[in-house]
Amino acid sequence: MIDNSLITLNENAVKNNVAFIRKKLGGKIKISAVVKANAYGHGIEQIAPLFEKYGIEHYSVFYYSEALRVYNCLEKPATIMVMGWLCDESIEDAIKKGIEFFVFNIERLNAAIKYAKAHNLIAKIHLEAETGMNRSGLNVDELDQAITAIKKNIEYIEIAGFCTHLSGAESVSNHLRIQNQLKKYRKMLATLEANEMHPKYKHVANSAAAFVYPKTRMDLVRVGIMLYGFWSSTEVFIHYINSKNDNTDPLKRILKWQSQIMAIKQVKSGEFVGYGISYLAQSNITTALVPIGYYSGYSRSLSNKGRVLICGCSCSIIGVVNMNMIIIDVSHVSDAKVSDEVVLIGNQGNLEIKVSAFSEISDELNYEILAHLPESIIRTVEK
Ligand SMILES: *Cc1c(COP(=O)(O)O)cnc(C)c1O
Repeated sequence: MIDNSLITLNENAVKNNVAFIRKKLGGKIKISAVVKANAYGHGIEQIAPLFEKYGIEHYSVFYYSEALRVYNCLEKPATIMVMGWLCDESIEDAIKKGIEFFVFNIERLNAAIKYAKAHNLIAKIHLEAETGMNRSGLNVDELDQAITAIKKNIEYIEIAGFCTHLSGAESVSNHLRIQNQLKKYRKMLATLEANEMHPKYKHVANSAAAFVYPKTRMDLVRVGIMLYGFWSSTEVFIHYINSKNDNTDPLKRILKWQSQIMAIKQVKSGEFVGYGISYLAQSNITTALVPIGYYSGYSRSLSNKGRVLICGCSCSIIGVVNMNMIIIDVSHVSDAKVSDEVVLIGNQGNLEIKVSAFSEISDELNYEILAHLPESIIRTVEK
């Protein structure tokens, strides 16, 4: 291992998750694979071709730079949808490349019309409705203005979608708010349709919504976290297994993150380990030094709490997580030696370090831990 750590992706897990979600949604509903945040830390260039191999033809990103990465790493033409940020120059380039994007204000619609006209092309837009999230989206008045502007420029605009985002379908506490959002969405859709505008895809659901509220699936679901083998929340998993006879998890985690032992040391009873006085050896112990720290996305809140796998044993982090290193207690692992594999996330032998275990300790969401995995770590794919 030249680098301090590496990430391996399990192709069979990708195949499994795509198949499970497709079966659950049925054949008519389009799956848009959400690959923002470097594909939830998995690596756009590694995972998007796998999604493509298993039949995904629609991709969602947040930044235009991510859209270009998807555009460049797929073999066949696919639909790419930018849900978030793109500047005016990017809007122009997106139109030329046929990349679709959300329109949540009049400024962006005007820019889309301007560049589509200038190049005599069609801008493929997804009108995003403000339905109660109060984040981005056209309110009722703005939708009316948008309809007027589109009517005047109908030859330059394709309404590829009409969408909104729900304010937390992974928790039942948001139930009422979500029902109200859906009501608003339907009302605004009716306005659009009354104006003879029929979006190709009506879409509101992310992973959680698609599982908890089947009505929200409509024509397309923007699936992120579940494609990577994680449930949006424990609640969503419980909701799913409650409808089943067995409670085995149908999703498979794709990602394994591993490093290696850099040095082994004996520490005498009564000595402090690492910075400050956060860990005092209570007996003679053996420690392993691992070249991973918060620089590599390993949260400092895992200090004295996180666990890793070495030689098939679960081992504790002792002391604070440093910028580039963690210290592990390997006193109970008699054969641990320099260069041994250290699993930070994933399986070793019969044991697994789950991202959810991290989240419980560090209060980070599984989304957050994945998104913090540095892009510089080399990702490889194995069967
Ligand atoms: C991230 C995101 C999704 C995907 O959410 P998951 O919970 O990962 O399935 C869907 N829609 C929008 C607008 C998003 O930003």
